[in-house]
Amino acid sequence: MRSGDENSQLYSNTCSGQSNNNDLSCAKCTAFSSTQFKEEMINRYYTPEQAKIRQDIYDLVKDNPLFERKYGLSKEQERQLTHDRAVYIIQKLRPFELEHFRTDPKRFFTFLDTVNNIDFGVAGRSMIHFGLFGGSVLYFGTEKHKQFQDRIVNDFGKIFGMFCMSEIGHASNVQQIETLAIYDHQSKTINIRTPSDSAVKVWSGGAAQFAQWAVVFAQLVVDKKCGVHAFLVPIRSEKDHSVLPGIRIRDLGSKIGLNCLDNGRVWFDVKISKDLMLDRFGTIDENGQYKTSIPDESVRFLAHVQALLIGRIMTASSSLNALKMALEITLKYAVHRRQFGPTNSGEELQIINYLSYQRRLYPYLAFSFVAHFSVEDLKRKYETNSDSKMIHTLASCLKAKCSDISLLGCQECRKSSGAQGFLSANRIGEMRDIADASITYEGDNNVLYQTASRNLVRR
Ligand SMILES: Cc1cc2nc3c(=O)[nH]c(=O)nc-3n(C[C@H](O)[C@H](O)[C@H](O)COP(=O)(O)OP(=O)(O)OC[C@H]3O[C@@H](n4cnc5c(N)ncnc54)[C@H](O)[C@@H]3O)c2cc1C
Repeated sequence: MRSGDENSQLYSNTCSGQSNNNDLSCAKCTAFSSTQFKEEMINRYYTPEQAKIRQDIYDLVKDNPLFERKYGLSKEQERQLTHDRAVYIIQKLRPFELEHFRTDPKRFFTFLDTVNNIDFGVAGRSMIHFGLFGGSVLYFGTEKHKQFQDRIVNDFGKIFGMFCMSEIGHASNVQQIETLAIYDHQSKTINIRTPSDSAVKVWSGGAAQFAQWAVVFAQLVVDKKCGVHAFLVPIRSEKDHSVLPGIRIRDLGSKIGLNCLDNGRVWFDVKISKDLMLDRFGTIDENGQYKTSIPDESVRFLAHVQALLIGRIMTASSSLNALKMALEITLKYAVHRRQFGPTNSGEELQIINYLSYQRRLYPYLAFSFVAHFSVEDLKRKYETNSDSKMIHTLASCLKAKCSDISLLGCQECRKSSGAQGFLSANRIGEMRDIADASITYEGDNNVLYQTASRNLVRR
């Protein structure tokens, strides 16, 4: 690491940085601009298809009034805006199909990473509707759900799907959820029921305003308890958006961040057709008997969790993106901002030149590089499905580590930008909010560290 004095000599030389003399001793001539650096990274690590998805999105939103930054909106306005933006991008560009989750997940990864930098609400909504809701229908559903599966991308905007796993009583320990799914063979229906106050589904993103459909996790009862399974449940009318009979919904209210997402609480007492059970891992046959290819209840539950690891991987990626963005904004500020300096030079020093300043931010910068390549490697493992247990372990610990460090790093960026860091327009608070929520959703970080270490000890 250079000292402040060495750096000040390098940066305050007389060269404009425009010469083509390839003078390797001149920091200005050899420095990459952040735009050049991004282009270089994209060419090196993106496939042409990924680069196109990214570029198409940026071209679509550039100078587009729908994407103008707006501050001080009510939570209802924020929700509507992010919803409209998400629908607009998907309908205009259609950057992926649901089937790509299986065949080419890079497309969805690239889409999410790109919109994440534009409006996290768009990424959050897309993660809920496509990643969690759509992913559940794709991975837990069978042939009879294929038609509905096609609607998830085709009808986005007309339908929105939410993911109801967490309950007031249990969210970390999901295997103990209480919501019941009781099968009645005479009517061939399943009664999805909230049996107690602690069984109320909570935090479901989309519940308060936009969702018409839900994937609901519940304890299946076919004569006796058969463990946690997933069910496709209509909650609002597709005709007039009214809440359907047997469903009760409450808005969760104002949150300390991410008010662009309409989280809510949901009570169920509704009968659905047996065909709406997402029955890849366990089914009810024509005689009303429960059948499964995975007899162990815990292993069967783990199969559900592993199929949805895309959410955890993308939370690692999005919290890391938040840190990268906060660092980029802060480091640019630090290059331009001059405070104090040697009394005889006549010019104050750029704050980036102070060692004490570098020591606050460079560890986070270094972490962002290491974590970037670790997360990219994890995405590649997920694409090739090389070792599902290891993917589960890596996704758990990388999600936890990336979001923990990102939260600390974003806060350091906020402090390192002085008062500018406190302005909404400079977006560091927005990045800190993303990191803050990321430490909890897709699994609480401390629980995930324990999951990862338990997996490693058993290995
Ligand atoms: C913004 C946001 C959006 C969300 N969206 C959704 C959604 O769409 N659908 C959905 O189903 N859920 C959603 N969730 C819920 C989320 O998945 C849960 O909040 C999360 O799994 C943590 O559960 P919990 O809140 O019950 O935490 P708790 O389990 O109550 O944890 C509280 C504390 O206890 C600690 N703890 C718990 N168990 C242990 C242990 N064994 N040892 C040591 N410490 C422990 C934890 O580390 C944590 O610090 C969302 C949450 C947020 C914040």
